Amino acid sequence: MKKILDIPALIIGGGVTGTGIARDLALRGISALVIEMGNINDGASGRNHGLLHSGARYVGSDPDSAAECARESQILKKIAPHCIEDTGGLYVAVKGDDEAYVADFPNLCKRAGVFCQPLSVHQVLELEPGLSKDAIAAFKVKDASVDPFHISLENMNQAIEHGATYYSNCKAIGFSLGTMSGKKIIKKVKVQNNLTGACFYITPRVVINATGAWAGMVTALAGIHLDMIYSKGSLLVTHNRLTTHVINRLRPAADGDILVPGRTVSIFGTTSIRLDNLDAIKPDFNEIDFLVDQGAQMVPGLETTRYIRAYAGVRPLVSNRDESTIDKATIDEPGEDDRAVSRGFYLFDHSRDDVDNLLTITGGKVTTYRLMAEKTADLAAKKLKVASVCTTAQIPLTSKAPSKLIEAGMSVKLWARESDPGDSMMCECEMVPKSHFKELLLWLKQNRETADLNSLRIHSRLGKGACQGTFCSLRVTGLMYDEAYLKGSQGLDNIRFLLTERFKGQKPLLWGSQLAQAELNEAMFCSFFGLDMADPRADLDKKG
Ligand SMILES: Cc1cc2nc3c(=O)[nH]c(=O)nc-3n(C[C@H](O)[C@H](O)[C@H](O)COP(=O)(O)OP(=O)(O)OC[C@H]3O[C@@H](n4cnc5c(N)ncnc54)[C@H](O)[C@@H]3O)c2cc1C
Repeated sequence: MKKILDIPALIIGGGVTGTGIARDLALRGISALVIEMGNINDGASGRNHGLLHSGARYVGSDPDSAAECARESQILKKIAPHCIEDTGGLYVAVKGDDEAYVADFPNLCKRAGVFCQPLSVHQVLELEPGLSKDAIAAFKVKDASVDPFHISLENMNQAIEHGATYYSNCKAIGFSLGTMSGKKIIKKVKVQNNLTGACFYITPRVVINATGAWAGMVTALAGIHLDMIYSKGSLLVTHNRLTTHVINRLRPAADGDILVPGRTVSIFGTTSIRLDNLDAIKPDFNEIDFLVDQGAQMVPGLETTRYIRAYAGVRPLVSNRDESTIDKATIDEPGEDDRAVSRGFYLFDHSRDDVDNLLTITGGKVTTYRLMAEKTADLAAKKLKVASVCTTAQIPLTSKAPSKLIEAGMSVKLWARESDPGDSMMCECEMVPKSHFKELLLWLKQNRETADLNSLRIHSRLGKGACQGTFCSLRVTGLMYDEAYLKGSQGLDNIRFLLTERFKGQKPLLWGSQLAQAELNEAMFCSFFGLDMADPRADLDKKG
């Protein structure tokens, strides 16, 4: 007999939306299980710009979304200040940009209820000396920078503290439908553990599909068609932080027009390219060249800076106009430009498709995730016949987990303040000492998460600095052997997985200093450890 878990609410997808729903339900006293086929934020939530939108980006194309962003960003700044850097934002036009849009911008902001304040060119260059001297107009807005990993982890940790459960590497692969009180429902969900291949079943009363771009694949398990558009966006991470504010190009939304400071680095992007499937989500070389060219028009330093990583994510966009969505559906028929598709969110109650206990929430943004979770939890609570109110806009988003370790630049402050002299430095790029990794490993073990290099990467700054794991991966693997988290050749598997994943993000950026970095990686890991071989253990065994 296979294991069966009985649970009120099953949430499929561990991105910012799924973890946000788990928190919302847990605070209402409804226990939920989140299953994620990879790890927290493996989808778009871990592959975005990290811009907490003030709404200004959407004032021309989608004023409702703009107003929603303006409201929600203020709430998040209040409940989760530790996950946000309130940098402020600037909109800057350069010579050649559409002057009609520049003139209209303050009116568009006013109509959507989005704050903007005009600045002179002199004032904006004083604020940000790295801006192009070709700047012709500028406005100040209330943009900020958000760490999406931090926010999702805090969501999940707080949910767990209030009774929720989280399973990583578990994929929903099948639904068994049946009837209850004359209504068709999902009776059982088949789940596969991606690490072991083992399957088990869950019998939930409500199933919440929070799988972002994968939403249509999950509804298909219940025989329901949901047409998603896969719009890929690629982003670049610079070695250093280039500006103090979020910098937006003052023009209708286009490619390569946002630079977001993310603590110690800056993130620049993005693009919008239609994909047919989700099999290979990665940046292309052409996109990188185009981005650098566009960015340099606004911030010339983007042409010469060192880039340490590129990555791509897929925006979950819904393509079919649907009258029964709870949030507005201001979609134009999608043409060639996916930027015309609404960035609003969609909540589907699939009782309209004759499956009474399935909900799908998709679309939206990190900025609006809390509201998306609120609407979804309202509907789920109604289906579960639990009278409850949402408290996520009032209760601070904090947990007891060691989440401070994920903040770039934070470790060095803590180290200077708290460390004892014997505490050695494991990661020099991000200044993370040994004691932090020891604390985290213990926490992962106590919270039934896999204590491996990849989990450490998700919960800390491991592998995220300029060396992209060259030195920290080795040192932390050594620590994991010392502390008996690893045995035999497991360390090699851990390092291979981490570096292979990290290399995907370095591959399109192999010029200048980052090329030298990659050469060093290759020399160390291929010549000393044989990681370029199919099975380096065989060779190590031969050598004894
Ligand atoms: C390039 C880019 C830039 C962006 N920039 C910003 C920005 O600056 N600011 C902003 O506010 N928003 C931004 N967004 C939008 C934002 O990232 C997304 O709207 C948001 O992260 C979606 O979160 P989600 O949890 O709904 O989906 P996801 O984060 O995609 O999570 C879905 C999860 O479901 C899991 N999953 C899928 N199928 C299954 C299954 N069968 N079983 C179990 N698990 C499954 C996936 O592994 C994934 O982790 C950006 C998006 C992109 C792509």
